[in-house]
Amino acid sequence: MSKIFISHSSRNDQEAIAVKDWLVSNGWNDVFLDLDPKRGLAPGEHWQEALKAAAERCQAVLFLISKDWVGSRWCGLDAFMTRAAMLLIGAATLYLLGGGPGAAFAEARKSLPPGFVYLKDIDPTIVQDIRYATPFNFTGAPVPGYGAECVLLREVAIALKEAQDELRPQNLGLKVYDCYRPQRAVRAFVDWVKKPDAKGDERHYPRTPRADLVKLGYISAASNHSYGTAVDLTLIALPTERAQAARRNDYGACVAPKDEREPDESLDMGTGFDCFDLNSRNPALLGSSDAEAQKSAEKSELAAPPLEIQKDQRDRRLQLFALMKDHGFKGIGAEWWHYQYTRIPRPLKPQDFAIPAAEPRSDRSGRLRSGARPSS
Ligand SMILES: [Zn+2]
Repeated sequence: MSKIFISHSSRNDQEAIAVKDWLVSNGWNDVFLDLDPKRGLAPGEHWQEALKAAAERCQAVLFLISKDWVGSRWCGLDAFMTRAAMLLIGAATLYLLGGGPGAAFAEARKSLPPGFVYLKDIDPTIVQDIRYATPFNFTGAPVPGYGAECVLLREVAIALKEAQDELRPQNLGLKVYDCYRPQRAVRAFVDWVKKPDAKGDERHYPRTPRADLVKLGYISAASNHSYGTAVDLTLIALPTERAQAARRNDYGACVAPKDEREPDESLDMGTGFDCFDLNSRNPALLGSSDAEAQKSAEKSELAAPPLEIQKDQRDRRLQLFALMKDHGFKGIGAEWWHYQYTRIPRPLKPQDFAIPAAEPRSDRSGRLRSGARPSS
């Protein structure tokens, strides 16, 4: 049962999503929003009936009042249904008219295009280590368009939260290295390969010629990351309160034993992240019949030498694969850390917006107060 029903005008979809995200990030998981892919209306469902049924089940209603809300007879219907059912236990009003907290939400979120969210607003417990925002990546320098924040399509972030929830009882969690990737960053990777004299960090490709990185599929002219559907991640032992592994630069190649390669508090997967090497292959996809995995396999010579990793490292890759598969992701043959979400039915476009740094959560959360008065 959804305990909170958000009544809003369709012209305030983004503000409604922002309010819902805030509620979820503060523990109010049971929210009905007709846009929500999991809890909202199913395609083809008779929406007036479904809305009525949802409103009757809810214990509280949030009215997002704006000029559009006032002018919408369907929103008026929401209010009527709530009164008629005598179910209105508590209602808060969020004024979206100039300067109110709803407008502050819209202001905070307008830096992301519709549909995209900050992962930490959906699940702040997932550890983030966005390597392309730092010099600690294969190019040896921060990558254009990056801020140190994981941004994803909303459905993908929710799926990660659900995976994180499943891991928690095992004292495990997720750590993400890369999420949405602007197209300008993808272009920068291709340009980097084309300039053999450009600075690079060979510890990420100690046994693979830099000129072969495109041919082998590690770098390409287009990326699912630019759609906000792909994520690079690993497993980490809880609790995660401890500081991230200290940054230092005197470490070895990504194929070296864990205590010799780049410091990383994650579980040992046998190689580091972004290790362009045959030992980075995903054991779950060796010999896969999946066409895309096979294509990735051929590029990375998947069938060639056996994976030279230990059994516990292999088992962890398989554990991550099984978890991600259960939550709607598929892997690729060449990289154990790369997963793409497959359950978004609508057509998507690659994006090129730069990743802004998110505001601290406390700042944004503090702006939501019920009953605030409009400034005009
Ligand atoms: Zn990836």
